[in-house]
Amino acid sequence: MNKPKMTTEKGNSKVLMLLAQLERINGEATVKDAETARQVTAKILHLIQTQGESRHTYKYNLQSSVFNLCNRSAVLLMCSLLGRGRRVGVFVSKGGTGILFQLLITASKELPPNEELMLQLHSLLAKAGPKDRKFGVKARLSGALHVTVNLLKENLQNTKLLLPCLQVLRVYCANSVNAISLGKNGAVELMFKIVVPYSKKNTSLLKVALDALGALLKSKTNAHRAVDGSLVPVLLALYLDWHRNDTRHRHMQIRKGLLVCLRNITNIKLGRKAFIEADGMRILYITSTECLPVRTLDPLVNTSSLIMRKCFPKNRLPLPSMKSTFHYQLPHIPAAGPVAQLYMDDVADDVVDESDDNEETEADTENDTENEEDEKDHRAVNDDIETDLNKLHPKRSPGRPFEELRVYERFFLELSEDFQVSILGTWRQNIRAKINQDKHINQNEFKHIQSPLLLGGITACCVGGGGSNLGSDCGSEGPEDEGGEGGVLEVPDTALLLPLHDPDLYVEMVKGTHSVPKYLEVAYPDYFGHVAPTFREPLLERVYGVQRSKIFQDIERLIHPNDILDKVVYDLDVPSCPVIEDDGESLKFNSQFESGNLRKAVQVRKYEYDLVLNSDINSNHYHQWFYFEVSGMRVGTTYRFNIINCEKSNSQFNYGMQVLMYSVQGAISGRPCWVRTGTDICYYKNHFARSSIAAGGQKGKSYYTLTFSTSFSHKDDVCYFAYHYPYTYSTLKMHLSKLEALRTPQIYLRQDVLCETLGGNACPLLTITAMPESNSTDHICQFRNRPLIFLSARVHPGETNASWVMKGTLEFLMGTSPLAASLRESYIFKIVPMLNPDGVVNGNHRCSLSGEDLNRQWQNPSPELHPTIYHTKSLLQYLAHIQRAPLVFCDYHGHSRKKNVFMYGCSVKETVWQTNICAASSDLHEDLGYRALPKILSQIAPVFSMASCSFVVERSKESTARVVVWREIGIQRSYTMESTLCGCDQGKYKGLQIGTRELEEMGAQFCLGLLRLKRLTGLHNHQHLLDLESDITGTQSKVVICPTTYVMEEDEPSILEAIDYSAESNDEDAEPENEHGSEVHENPDHFDQLSDSETNHRV
Ligand SMILES: [Zn+2]
Repeated sequence: MNKPKMTTEKGNSKVLMLLAQLERINGEATVKDAETARQVTAKILHLIQTQGESRHTYKYNLQSSVFNLCNRSAVLLMCSLLGRGRRVGVFVSKGGTGILFQLLITASKELPPNEELMLQLHSLLAKAGPKDRKFGVKARLSGALHVTVNLLKENLQNTKLLLPCLQVLRVYCANSVNAISLGKNGAVELMFKIVVPYSKKNTSLLKVALDALGALLKSKTNAHRAVDGSLVPVLLALYLDWHRNDTRHRHMQIRKGLLVCLRNITNIKLGRKAFIEADGMRILYITSTECLPVRTLDPLVNTSSLIMRKCFPKNRLPLPSMKSTFHYQLPHIPAAGPVAQLYMDDVADDVVDESDDNEETEADTENDTENEEDEKDHRAVNDDIETDLNKLHPKRSPGRPFEELRVYERFFLELSEDFQVSILGTWRQNIRAKINQDKHINQNEFKHIQSPLLLGGITACCVGGGGSNLGSDCGSEGPEDEGGEGGVLEVPDTALLLPLHDPDLYVEMVKGTHSVPKYLEVAYPDYFGHVAPTFREPLLERVYGVQRSKIFQDIERLIHPNDILDKVVYDLDVPSCPVIEDDGESLKFNSQFESGNLRKAVQVRKYEYDLVLNSDINSNHYHQWFYFEVSGMRVGTTYRFNIINCEKSNSQFNYGMQVLMYSVQGAISGRPCWVRTGTDICYYKNHFARSSIAAGGQKGKSYYTLTFSTSFSHKDDVCYFAYHYPYTYSTLKMHLSKLEALRTPQIYLRQDVLCETLGGNACPLLTITAMPESNSTDHICQFRNRPLIFLSARVHPGETNASWVMKGTLEFLMGTSPLAASLRESYIFKIVPMLNPDGVVNGNHRCSLSGEDLNRQWQNPSPELHPTIYHTKSLLQYLAHIQRAPLVFCDYHGHSRKKNVFMYGCSVKETVWQTNICAASSDLHEDLGYRALPKILSQIAPVFSMASCSFVVERSKESTARVVVWREIGIQRSYTMESTLCGCDQGKYKGLQIGTRELEEMGAQFCLGLLRLKRLTGLHNHQHLLDLESDITGTQSKVVICPTTYVMEEDEPSILEAIDYSAESNDEDAEPENEHGSEVHENPDHFDQLSDSETNHRV
């Protein structure tokens, strides 16, 4: 034991003794004792100062000991006790800050206040403040806010005192109510006095003052005050001074602090106006451009970019109306809803709101009495989950009376009539009959439908010989005159690779397809067909700073308006479309073919085009699907394309997805395929205003831009771009026709027309099963008693992937493998492969011709407006009536915001778990059978992810196929199967974008899943079922906890760059330091996303 330690221990015991004495004195608390207390305190202080700090001291409850003492000794004692580091936390937890505020108030009453004491008190508060969550409230309630502000006002030249006071003020301002109160007391102007003019003296003071100012300006009232005081130009000038003088970048914090002030002021409209008037766009543009080469200055560039985006004047989309270019008069207009609205609002300009002055009713709405934000700790609850147990329990509803449903018997010939008769009718015969009956169809129309071979543009590639080596140079001398009938185009021979494809048959099918714009052309990709490439297409890695550089190019349009061409080259709204004759200076566009969607193209720079998508017919929004043709390109030049009227708030284009491109020259030279294309892809909020009419009543919304760059490798090429692999209605008809050819005597295949759509297209219904082994009663009986499987797809036209999955399913079902045979022998398949042919034909993204999402009409479909839904539902009602409800119902969809393939199902229990209505749930018994099929699929299909599945029933989905079929028809295994449009982040295809091969494979594996399900549900294999059940039960708890099961969660990790600049980035750390952010999927804002019900979720 060495001596010094001994001394310390002795000292400690003495301190403790004195503290105990102090406590007793305080207990008695008379005036006489105050003097004694003072003496005791002084002794303690002396001991601590002379003998070092002691940990034991802190065991003492400071509150009960020191703290009726309002004198300097007490303050000094606290100084010593406080020390630094963890002790501050102890100090705060013992109520230290409250005591400090008391001391501050008392000291402030001394006139003049003792400077040394004030300095010490503020230093202590500055240390304790950041550790105390209630610091702001305590400061306000004690009256300390104004003590500090007044002290600052009176001591502006006293830098020694200024620093701790500012440090405390900075902490006060973190509380919004305080910020308003301080603003009223002149704090904003005070901070300006400290930060202006430019001076490198005392930068630490400056830094703190800017932090405080930034925090003050978060309050809209304070921002107004700053604008009224003409402080925006002052801040800009100051920023410019710092930018010029801080050549070695040693004062980043100050420069950033100034930008944060500007960022907060420009949150109000007047602030943005003042910013523009003060030439802020140019100043920040120039400074940022100069900062770009220095990577460490990124935070400055990012914040500047955020401010510029916010202040960029709102533009009008270059359109006459947001309503679709194509008009389709409905037989009757719904009484209410968006479609009715559309027909009513005929006069108003629906592209922008009449006045944008209504954007903000801000500022004065702030009040300083509301409760503290740190008190609203309650968790947001998702109110989209169904909580009504009555609604949750499947309630079989007979729907239409059986007398009415009896007509559907004809679609189930296999169940009733002699099967030998029933197989005679075929799809094609039905179709012909339909078309001939249809008086609206003018046979002459068909004559004008051109095979793409005659369409010019590609005629340069006519062949003399039959070689497939049509190089890219073969058309350099443009034999334009050889076009038309003279030219013979080499059609890639894809017959071997694409057994279901036949170009001539495709053209035949197109002739029977009815489009609203009466299309006469056929797109080459649909004509030639698509052979899935054999190379891998990985998810695109995002290049650092890509969005930022694109946004800077957008800002340049404002800074250098003379560089902008603004040349309209394609415009469906004018009768003479395309607008531009081939002048060699611009690309040529075309979208006038089945499933095409491109409304307008504007050349903004030599190699850059703004593209505008068309709304769904009878609607003024749903811009997502695109499919268009480009020609007249220069080889090797990089073109930038911007689709400027996207609506979703985020997109998989920010997470590795590329657009699809098809080159006709590539096809002719032996590679007829869509390939993932595009570099510098990103998706961000732009400056085109969205009218409240087109935004569902919400004001102040903007559109989003999808931008991508690409170059072309063939001269005189015709290329196509699409959102996803196109799959037209005519393609479906061709595939169905070719499927017939695959029929063997063992296969029972029947194709019926379920109904005709509004647009006059037939909606096919397929029946596939195995022929009975013989005519014996037993075999016929087995045949008729097979369980039914009901499948549908493509209710949403933009989800073309659903059709590719369906193609995989159909091909498997018609296949010759023993598994396929076994499957056919096990079930009767009823399939509606395209629930929304009109939407597909006309290039819609989501709706049918009625302008409505058909997957929201299942509860009460109208036979006139939603015939395909009405009749599909009737088929199911008929089956329920005759006690033949299908074993499985599955509707195939595509998902634009998640990766992998997964299912949504319906479970009362899992819904109840999510909503925490525990009381009623404990005695709920539910068959877990609904989990079996997804579980099986996750085992056999590499793209399928069980973790993404959800079995929650949401209110917003109550009129979807899945929920209605489950609830009303009583099918327990009722699913939506969602396939990604992007790619996979698990399994064999992890890191790859999805292609048609994988989608078709999924369709086939779905069949295999059904076969396995059959074994599990079969009477003879109880043990398997039990295994599965226990397997499932074992995962239950995991499933409930696992956040990914949550239906609304999207596969979009915390964002790389701010897609939406208006999403308040008040958080000081909001600027991304690293673009590739965290890979963590756990999103703390998880619950926030839930409210975005319209854009985020799709079923
Ligand atoms: Zn969908």
